[in-house]
Amino acid sequence: MTALPTTGRSWHLVARPHGWPKAEDFALREVPVTEPAEGRILVRNLHFSVDPYMRGRMNDVKSYTPPYKLDQPMDGGAVGEVIASHDERFAVGDHVLHGLGWREYADVPAQYATKVDASLAPLSAYLGVLGMPGLTAYAGLFEVASFKEGDAVFVSGAAGAVGSLVGQMAKLKGASRVIGSAGSAEKVKHLTEKYGFDAAFNYKDGPVAPQLREAAPDGIDVYFDNVGGEHLEAAMSSFNVHGRATICGMIAQYNNTEATPGPSNMALIIGKRLRLQGVLVGDHVALQPQFVEEVSGWIRSGELKYDETVVEGIENGYDAFVGLLRGENTGKMIVSLNR
Ligand code: NAP
Repeated sequence: MTALPTTGRSWHLVARPHGWPKAEDFALREVPVTEPAEGRILVRNLHFSVDPYMRGRMNDVKSYTPPYKLDQPMDGGAVGEVIASHDERFAVGDHVLHGLGWREYADVPAQYATKVDASLAPLSAYLGVLGMPGLTAYAGLFEVASFKEGDAVFVSGAAGAVGSLVGQMAKLKGASRVIGSAGSAEKVKHLTEKYGFDAAFNYKDGPVAPQLREAAPDGIDVYFDNVGGEHLEAAMSSFNVHGRATICGMIAQYNNTEATPGPSNMALIIGKRLRLQGVLVGDHVALQPQFVEEVSGWIRSGELKYDETVVEGIENGYDAFVGLLRGENTGKMIVSLNR
């Protein structure tokens, strides 16, 4: 048996960001690695996820996930290889998905690890299209928005991990029209040319409402909101009667330091009988088997495309996270530790 490493690097939050995160708010530290105790496994992480929700966990506020503790390793989704096991369910060499990312080596309680199969999909896919963002898209569209064939669907953040899947899933299930918004000309082109959206626009080119009206002249029935603010207000204006919004994220305000004004047209909810409902992916784990079966089928048949933006090296974890908030990713942002 090869000797276990004695130390490994992990990212710590050392100060709570005010507004945009700064490099000084984080530290990459060398920490001891020890033999796992009974019921635990030691995992060499191969990929970890950086996600927008992590920005919320850097604030010291009560939320649906606890804040990161200062001077402690941050956590989040990761996949890796078991290098030591003190649990009968796992053997050295198994690949697992777990929640202790942002570090090279993870000492994971076995009950919080799930085996994943590298022969079915690249391991990084379990952090994206076949993982949490994929399930968010699937549950948010089909369960929360009650999508039905013939609906016209608008999705913001459409070139990202969740948004790119929402638009394609809607098309696959018979949407009459799918419209996406994203933050660059290149991403907009990608939406129509690669993902098959019917129309797309760059929200940085001008106000959202007129661009959406032009892209959806017959209105929209479903809005999948990853962004909030001006996008939500524009969607409310474009909604047809009985429109439904899945409120998934509000990334436009995650780094705001002052209260954000809400949409000014909330009264439309009444006349149009709109439904706006939040989604939390954790509420929809019962959908997991159906989601994996259907989505892996679409991937195999080539009907569903996905992208990953891979940043190499744990030392670039902070840059990957801030890059995600700035829109440097297309599809899922991943940090790979394939040494
Ligand atoms: P993502 O879309 O892959 O990455 C974030 C994207 O947000 C960036 O690429 C950037 O793309 C866009 N963005 C950044 N600032 C923006 C702004 N001011 N206005 C408009 N777009 C902006 O991230 P994701 O993982 O798929 O997450 C998407 C959203 O879903 C996030 O809001 C996240 O918090 C939420 N989410 C919620 C759940 C849940 O359970 N509720 C689960 C997963 C994700 P551009 O270049 O297009 O600006």
